[in-house]
Parts: sequence; C-alpha cells; structure tokens
Amino acid sequence: MNEKPTISNLAAIDAAHHIHPFSDMKELNAKGTRIIERAEGRHIWDSTGKKYLDGFAGLWCVNVGYGRKSIADAAYRQMQELPYYNSFFGTTTPPAILLAQKIASHAGPHMNRVFFTNSGSEATDTWFRMARVYWKALGMPEKTLVIARRNGYHGSTVAGASLGGMKLMHEQGNLPIDGIHHIGQPYWYAEGGDLSPEEFGLQAARELEAKIDELGEDKVAAFVAEPIQGAGGVIIPPDTYWPEISRICKARNILLVSDEVICGFGRLGSWFGYQHYGFEPDLAPIAKGLSSGYLPIGGVLVSDRVADVMVNEVGDFFHGYTYSGHPVAAAAALENLRIIEDEGLVERIRDDIGPYFAKGWKSLEAHPVVGQADCVGLIGGLQLAADKATRRRYAKPDDIGSLVRNHCLENGLIMRATADRMLASPAFTITRGEVDEMVGTLSKALDHLAETVTE
Ligand SMILES: *Cc1c(COP(=O)(O)O)cnc(C)c1O
Repeated sequence: MNEKPTISNLAAIDAAHHIHPFSDMKELNAKGTRIIERAEGRHIWDSTGKKYLDGFAGLWCVNVGYGRKSIADAAYRQMQELPYYNSFFGTTTPPAILLAQKIASHAGPHMNRVFFTNSGSEATDTWFRMARVYWKALGMPEKTLVIARRNGYHGSTVAGASLGGMKLMHEQGNLPIDGIHHIGQPYWYAEGGDLSPEEFGLQAARELEAKIDELGEDKVAAFVAEPIQGAGGVIIPPDTYWPEISRICKARNILLVSDEVICGFGRLGSWFGYQHYGFEPDLAPIAKGLSSGYLPIGGVLVSDRVADVMVNEVGDFFHGYTYSGHPVAAAAALENLRIIEDEGLVERIRDDIGPYFAKGWKSLEAHPVVGQADCVGLIGGLQLAADKATRRRYAKPDDIGSLVRNHCLENGLIMRATADRMLASPAFTITRGEVDEMVGTLSKALDHLAETVTE
C-alpha cells in the first residue's frame, strides 16, 4: 500500500494547517502551494516533477549547492555522538569551539570572537542588546539609539523588523520600537536625481552624520547596514558610500554594524562584505551562508574593541538561545566552510565565475526595458525601467517585477523580484553554462515584459 499523500492532498493539508512566512495565505490557499521535493547541485524539482534552475540559492543561502553528502554525513556523525548540549553554565561542545575559530580565521585581525544564534533575526537582536550593554559598561548608558536605513532588511523579530526599513513590516505590530531611527539608502537609480553615483553616495552617507547631529552623538549607540542591501532589491552602493560611512562612525564614536547575513561567506568574492568594501565593522551579524542553509545557524562576529568590554567588563551577559552553538548545526557549518575553502569557492567567485556572471548580467543592460544591471561577485540587481534615457520607472513597479519573475518560473528559472528590480543570487558552484541559461531565460522574460506592458 502506498501511503504517500498525493500532491493535491498535500496542498489541501497545507491550506488547512500551515501558515507560511511572508505570504498572503488566503490567496495562496486558493491557488495551492508549490511543493519542492528534492534538489541536486543548482536544481530543484517540485512535486509535479518540474525542474528549475535555482538562481537564488534557496533564499540567498545554499551557497555550496544542493546534495552535499559530506555535510549530511557530518551532521549524522555529530548527531550520533552528541546530538545536543548547551553552551550555557560553563560548558560547550567541540563543534561550537572549532566553528568560532574557523569563522574568526577569515574575519580579519580585528575580529576574533563569535556569539552563536540560530538565525539572522536572532543575530540582530543579539548585537542590538550587545551594543547598548557595551556603552553602558563604558559609563555611557545614554548611548542607546540605533540608526538604520529605509528599505534595509535585518530580520523579522521585533528588533529586526524595527531596524529594517520596510514600511509594510512597520505597519504590522506597531513598529519600530523606541530608540530606532532611519536614514535614506544609497539607491542612486531611483533617488540620485541629477547627481553622479559618486556624489550621491557621499550625500547618502552624510545623512548619517546629519542624523547623529540631530539625535546627539552622546545618545547614539550604533549604525547598521547591509554592505549590499539584499531583500531591498540588491541595492549596490556607489563606491564613495562605505568609506564615508566608516569615517563618520569613527569620527562620531558610534559602533558600525555590518549585516553580513547575505554578503558573508563569499558571495561578493571576499569572505565578508566589509572586506570587499574595505571597512572594519565593530559587530557583524551572520547566518544564511554560514551553513549554506543545510541547518539553521547564525551568529554575531564581535570585534576586539567590543569583545574587550563584553568579556572583561560586563560580567554576565544575560542573553542566549537554547540552541546557541548547536553541535549538529555547527558540525554542518564547519563542513560547509571546509568545502568553501577546499574548493576555493571565494576565489572562484572573485577571479572566474564572478567576472563571467558579470559579463552576462551586464549584457542585459542593452535590453530596452532594463535601466541598470549591477552586480558584485554572485549577487545581481537588475533595474527595470519604462524609459532608459530619463530613468523613468514603470507606473506600477510591484506588478512589473512579479511579471518577469513568473515568466522565468514558467520557463524553469527561479528568480526573485523586489518591486521593479530583479534579483539574482546563485550558488557559488554555478557553471558557465548555467549562467548562460539564467541570462537567456531572463532575457526572454524581459522580452515578454516589453511586449505586454508599455507603462
Ligand atoms: C535573511 C536576513 C536576515 C534575517 O535572517 P533570518 O535567518 O531569516 O532570521 C537578516 N539580515 C539580512 C541582511 C538578511 O538577508
């Protein structure tokens, strides 16, 4: 007897019992969910047997690709030896220790410690508390405010959604919480006006300086930003932006927090996003690529500046998760990082597949509906435009991106859209042929947009 539920059974059960994240459930239940059943390399298969090239690495995370048996084996071995023990009360486990060391070995000389969490959102809550505890321990308990950016994304917990600059998230749950302020984003295409990207990058960075002056330097604890905004639409800042942000944080004595949840562990062709842009953050939340999504794990990189106070001055930091440094997740992450090291995947992005991807991605800029096609390493953002010459955007940006995304989906390519931007974030192991396929399928979807929508 075959007890396996049928596809329509599963969809009905899903509709009856499962509330999905970031989903309009009424709409989804009416049309039925897509059920992903298996994956290998850069491909996934849904329950109808349809095969897709995953241009998004799951959700920015399956960086070493699907089907890595050695990660499964590492988790299996660890689960048999010691499935769980905590890192509270003076204990910990070998994988947690070794993973902290491994991460620190790539993080730069000023960054030597890690606090483990299970997700990026928890990492956000962790550094948020840590930043305030840091200033309090230094005798500056008034330094509590945190500045973040509009259209940034830092997770979905109360602190995460508050720090994020997504209006629709703020409207649900009376957010942001007190003590959080937002400045603009370095989104030149939409907001740069007549300025050159370089001029606009400086102007956007100097909004931070103005905000610190407005709030008072003695009240501001930290500024947080993603090196490249991911969920906001892969917004790649002009080159002038990060050096100026870094200068301002130093001059005004506020902590600089680099949200490395997407950029960390190689995506930009450097181990961390801050290394690509050449600055040194004080705190850096990590997650996603740390385990390539094989198991949930995240953390916060803590610089020596902050660690010296947290470790030597604070005493007990009353913060932690039951599964902080979970040994099975840590063992999977260690194996994931071994793969990235041994296969030279960061170097591959920097020197080989990254430049190849850039050539294909940027070729799309010639398409009549594309305003700008930008990328760094293996992350790309493509701006759709109604009029290239004037940078005029489509009248209904939200419908435009999903139209292109759905066309890609029908043709076997997973892409993501944020309003009128198309987002790509493939696995580090993507082949040249698969890059060509991605660009080709996306190009056809752009033709479809040009044919069906005029404004
Ligand atoms: C995904 C993401 C988060 C949140 O991570 P979760 O694991 O989903 O909680 C935080 N910051 C950035 C930049 C992200 O992309």
